[in-house]
Amino acid sequence: MLTPKEIIELLRQEYGELRWRPRSDPMSELVGTILSQNTSDTNSGRAFTRLVGRFPTWESLLSADPTAIAEAIRVGGLARIKAPRIKAVVEEVWARRGSFALAFLSEMPLEEAKAWLRSLPGVGPKTAACVLLFALGRPALPVDTHVYRVARRLGLVPPRVGAAEAHGLLESMLTPDEVYPFHMSLIKHGRRICKAQRPLCPRCVLASGCPSAVL
Ligand code: SF4
Repeated sequence: MLTPKEIIELLRQEYGELRWRPRSDPMSELVGTILSQNTSDTNSGRAFTRLVGRFPTWESLLSADPTAIAEAIRVGGLARIKAPRIKAVVEEVWARRGSFALAFLSEMPLEEAKAWLRSLPGVGPKTAACVLLFALGRPALPVDTHVYRVARRLGLVPPRVGAAEAHGLLESMLTPDEVYPFHMSLIKHGRRICKAQRPLCPRCVLASGCPSAVL
């Protein structure tokens, strides 16, 4: 079985160096990740653009009718579920902080920062990790469907461990510097080679060390 370090190195040779750079501010990442649930990146990106077009400040969402929010994000799918979720998160951040500046999460111990985010309504381990990793460069590992599938096939996640539990398990196997390249390269690999339906094992650079390889 391959170690995470070996996996990162083999995938680096395949996909190149993956260096962290800020993707957006923490509040945008938080709302954007909620919008990305159960939809494609393209659709959630469009929904985000329409949301901030219709509600240009987070403050303006505080007084917004959920129906108007749902209308703005309709293109992203599940709008009637996501609109109240976004409104509840925005309200809770405002109630706790009186501000939408979440940079203070950079200074907190990592586990405390995760707990702060995860205690927001509807925020699970993946959304919390996305905010911390993508917006703040903290070594929190989001385990999405690709990361979970590829890590399981590689034998890093035992059969009965679910995606939520896999966050802590996989993160504990990585050094802080490895978290971003591990996440990004497993997503790339999951999309291109280790696909959900028919993994392309004969073309996989990890095949010689993968317990699930079908060659
Ligand atoms: S060998 Fe097959 S199952 Fe294993 S990581 Fe590669 S594509 Fe996925």
